[in-house]
Amino acid sequence: AKNCGKNNAKLYSSALTTQMMSHVKLEIGLRRALQNNELYLQYQPQIDVRSARMVGVEALVRWRHPEHGIVGPNEFIPLAEETGLIVPIGAWVLRTACGQARAWQEQAGRPVRVAVNLSARQFKDENLAQTVLSVLNDTGLDPCLLELELTEGTLMDDAVATLATLEQLRAIGVYLSIDDFGTGYSSMNYLKRFDVRALKIDRSFISGLPEDSENAAITRAIIAMAHGLKLAVVAEGVETGEQLQLLEQYGCDMAQGYLLGRPSSGEAIGEMLMGEAL
Ligand code: C2E
Ligand code: CA
Ligand code: CA
Ligand code: CA
Repeated sequence: AKNCGKNNAKLYSSALTTQMMSHVKLEIGLRRALQNNELYLQYQPQIDVRSARMVGVEALVRWRHPEHGIVGPNEFIPLAEETGLIVPIGAWVLRTACGQARAWQEQAGRPVRVAVNLSARQFKDENLAQTVLSVLNDTGLDPCLLELELTEGTLMDDAVATLATLEQLRAIGVYLSIDDFGTGYSSMNYLKRFDVRALKIDRSFISGLPEDSENAAITRAIIAMAHGLKLAVVAEGVETGEQLQLLEQYGCDMAQGYLLGRPSSGEAIGEMLMGEAL
């Protein structure tokens, strides 16, 4: 996309947009957004804490609304989930993200993992695994370069459809990670039952570091538990050098946040990857 530079992540302001648009207008607009090419993705770097290399990115969807400008996902994903529109929107996100990851791989000459957020609603769709499979086939992306971010809530739902979908995804060979870890209902049981690669420590635990001793204790405990289970840990929302230093000291594997890179266009990420290669 042309006018989505590096630093426009904060162009949209919360709640304002939805207040301006009625619920019905928002829904009509969202239905048209896909066919009118108004949705686009930004990608936020995930950095290996020890080597400081970019090991992957997380795809984050935005809506360039013809009248209201850039609308963030918190403003329309809930409605998309309610209406079921998240299913076609989610399929578009998967296809775009995987195509982009494949293009970076060719451009930079090394594999780059892309993480895509999946709603619980998408998991109830019996065609999800088929969609993932055909996206991987069409784009030629290696399954192990696609990571699906699920929340604790999605995995706690033991509906038959959810379990079947998880098994199919495991067979395809994509990675699963747990988003916003520590904020949902965690029975921890699912960590044994499902083949999870990584836990993402929610930003709310990271934001108080290093001063907040309770958040520090929680962060350390999550890292220790994850490593005990042979899972990798990603810290979200890292904004300061002090936070990064503390996380390194705790043995955190990966970090993501404004300090390390704002959500950026695919082009900008491609340039960063090329810069690293030099
Ligand atoms: P999330 O998955 O927890 O994504 C991280 C959010 O934190 C993103 O907000 C990102 O821009 C923001 N962020 C990253 N680093 C920092 C930081 O250092 N400080 C602060 N204050 N914020 C940071 P964004 O892009 O507005 O996305 C919000 C949520 O919308 C996401 O939360 C995710 O749950 C959802 N979302 C985004 N894209 C998709 C999508 O394609 N599909 C689905 N189902 N949900 C999506
Ligand atoms: Ca996420
Ligand atoms: Ca998150
Ligand atoms: Ca979050």
